[in-house]
Amino acid sequence: MHPRTTGAHTTSDVLVVGGGIIGLVTAWRASRHGLRVAVADPEPGGGAARVAAGMLAAVTELHYGEETLLGLNLESARRYPDFVAELREASGGMDVGYRACGTLAVALDADDRAHLRELHALQQRSGLRSEWLTGRECRRLEPMLAPGVRGGLRVDGDHQVDPRRLAAALVAACERAGVVFHRARAERLVVAGGRAAGAVLDDGAEPAAGQVVLAAGSLSGRLGGVPREVLPPVRPVKGQVLRLSVPRAYAPFLSRTVRAVVRGSQVYLVPRENGELVVGATSEELGWDTTVTAGGVYELLRDAHELVPGITELPLTETRAGLRPGSPDNAPLLGPTALPGLHLATGHYRNGVLLTPVTGDVMATVLTTGELPEQARAFAPGRFAPPAASPPTSPSLSPAGVS
Ligand SMILES: Cc1cc2nc3c(=O)[nH]c(=O)nc-3n(C[C@H](O)[C@H](O)[C@H](O)COP(=O)(O)OP(=O)(O)OC[C@H]3O[C@@H](n4cnc5c(N)ncnc54)[C@H](O)[C@@H]3O)c2cc1C
Repeated sequence: MHPRTTGAHTTSDVLVVGGGIIGLVTAWRASRHGLRVAVADPEPGGGAARVAAGMLAAVTELHYGEETLLGLNLESARRYPDFVAELREASGGMDVGYRACGTLAVALDADDRAHLRELHALQQRSGLRSEWLTGRECRRLEPMLAPGVRGGLRVDGDHQVDPRRLAAALVAACERAGVVFHRARAERLVVAGGRAAGAVLDDGAEPAAGQVVLAAGSLSGRLGGVPREVLPPVRPVKGQVLRLSVPRAYAPFLSRTVRAVVRGSQVYLVPRENGELVVGATSEELGWDTTVTAGGVYELLRDAHELVPGITELPLTETRAGLRPGSPDNAPLLGPTALPGLHLATGHYRNGVLLTPVTGDVMATVLTTGELPEQARAFAPGRFAPPAASPPTSPSLSPAGVS
């Protein structure tokens, strides 16, 4: 079903503010459930996916204190193969570069090795599959690794996808499903009768909707007109990434994702089937700055070179910086807010690509039934509600910047 259109004003069941991969997957899945959906974004399919490496790293991204998130990450990783197949069909045959290649996390010195051993123990306690390898065994798997590698963890279940192709396929799937795109920025949420009812866009359009999903990535906390109490506490976490290309004569340079912690910083090399090698990523708390800096590029090349010395031979094809939508507990905010009709799908931080399939399904369920599915209850936005806002008294919620 398609939204009703009258000039610049449309009415749909759902308006999604933000057309990054999270907003797009929400729109696509909701439209598959029979809802009439519109998306507002000046550049749908852009956002952090343009920069992201696309690791589907439920196991190697496990951090202390993130065991709840682990369950959602694993569930999304499990759904990936079917999701990719369905998206290929829905997008008219687009390939998103899903590659079941596995990951090798290695240690370069005694400190790194101790850290990796602890991570291995945590993974085992969490029931995850990973295998400890000696340095020699690591190099047998990946001959381009530095001779100094002291050991590593082989994780055969952590794969990859190409986020740019994923975003492009989601745009195509949405278009084919009849999702309406407003290529404009939302300036303000419209609240009518105590409910979210649409948005005012910077091109003058005012799309109305029965429900609104705020999926504006690191900018989700900045939309005008949203009551302060329900604004999501997301912040931008800058990441710089390099892209190199592996000439045919050097292939296969790496056969799987290789990663390490070097002097306390994460570095990873993600080899794509098309010869691209993604090297990332810095992690910087600098607001909405997306400048690529000499220091960032230097650190990434220095650390990646320690891991795989041969990278200095490869052509450097691109440098970019993007913004991860970080939340206070590094987990996403999914589902209804205290303002009736307003939902959140944001805060996916460093796992947004991994969490795309499960987010789409969770949001489609919420938008059609009003209920968060069991596996998403721990990620309800209410966990960050300020004490004063509970119990919620939605009709008197005050818009940000107004009172
Ligand atoms: C360097 C880096 C590496 C990463 N690596 C990985 C990885 O390996 N694996 C993984 O799973 N994840 C990774 N991520 C994280 C992942 O990319 C993000 O979590 C995910 O892309 C977030 O998607 P999003 O749609 O929520 O937000 P975004 O991608 O930020 O998209 C938000 C969209 O909202 C739009 N928007 C903003 N404000 C408005 C407004 N007012 N009106 C209309 N539209 C608006 C923007 O134009 C944008 O298109 C990485 C991220 C970075 C930066």
